[in-house]
Amino acid sequence: MSRDVYSELGVKKIINAAGTYTMVGGSRMSEATIEAMASAARSHVVISELQSKVQERLAVLTRNEAAYVTTGAAAALHITGAAAIAMHCGRPHASLAPEAAAKCEFVVYRAHRNPYDWALRLLGAKLVEVGFPNTIQSPTKRELDLAITDSTAAVYYFFMPRGGWMPDGALGFDDTVEVASARGVPVVVDAAAQLPPVENLWRLTERGASACVFSGGKDLRGPQASGLVVGRREFLAHVAETGFPTYGVGRMFKLGREEIVGLWAAVEQYVSMDHAKRAEWAEARVRGMAEALSAADGNVSVEYCYPNEAGQPMPRALVRFKKHRAEFVLRRLMEGEPPIFTNAAGEDGVFVNPMTLRDDEFGMVVRRLCEIGGEGE
Ligand SMILES: *Cc1c(COP(=O)(O)O)cnc(C)c1O
Repeated sequence: MSRDVYSELGVKKIINAAGTYTMVGGSRMSEATIEAMASAARSHVVISELQSKVQERLAVLTRNEAAYVTTGAAAALHITGAAAIAMHCGRPHASLAPEAAAKCEFVVYRAHRNPYDWALRLLGAKLVEVGFPNTIQSPTKRELDLAITDSTAAVYYFFMPRGGWMPDGALGFDDTVEVASARGVPVVVDAAAQLPPVENLWRLTERGASACVFSGGKDLRGPQASGLVVGRREFLAHVAETGFPTYGVGRMFKLGREEIVGLWAAVEQYVSMDHAKRAEWAEARVRGMAEALSAADGNVSVEYCYPNEAGQPMPRALVRFKKHRAEFVLRRLMEGEPPIFTNAAGEDGVFVNPMTLRDDEFGMVVRRLCEIGGEGE
């Protein structure tokens, strides 16, 4: 029997019916990825040699000129930002005076501001905002062009299809690239949660981004503390020079050989997976759930939702309760054995996202929701 660290610690194992939320551990690595990481842990290697070999493989797998592994997408935002500043100033980031970094600017849409942009704010450069987080007056290409100055180190684009949590109010991705490219400014894309579709691994850079950032711990099912940067050779050379193991800001985002290898193993599996089959599986799960629960009794109803919270092309179910408020249902789910974690959907519903659920867990979630539907409050 292998060791059960969570029961030793008295930490409850939960079923994640919400999706790839970091607060419950994001996604689950495959056994093959865990094995690759364990294999990496057993020997010493020269880290920079391991990095270049893995980067080459990742570039080929993701159909990009170059790739780089970080400790997460947020760390990747920080490292790419430092790299953009270094590129703009024409010297390594670690050799820059703070005043020089402070003179640099990042252009972002106000609609794209979010808690992950601390990764950019901490670099000391100025965030120049364009537009509004609504559609009363959408920004124009001219406005973006005017926001770009001789101090602009990069334009950051938070890529999320409509239906995700980002408000409207930004110029489209292609227009953004067109304006920035004409001014010779790199566009860096935060697409942390924009897998699926798998094509995003290469499409965004094909469409002109200098670099694109993905979380390794979300749908890629790599190590939770891993991130992937893919993109143009020149920009990525600055990223590699700025990131771990170089001293400087990159040193704070130390990578173990386990994460480096784990992300490679996960990406290898991800690009060779049958994504159409998986989408069918998710469809069948959500539709099957509607049937199972509507047969229960009149206390619960199921709505089909598409796309999901991150705007990914995957369905999820919104389960509405006649007799209960969402908080009650969430509490009862967490009180069960095993506890089930998910999010509220308005006042009287909860979401069930099939992406992080195994078949056996899916069955348990459906049964629990049926039971709770019949309970008195
Ligand atoms: C999840 C997420 C991140 C952070 O990714 P980590 O890999 O957890 O660091 C950054 N940006 C967006 C838009 C995200 O959804």
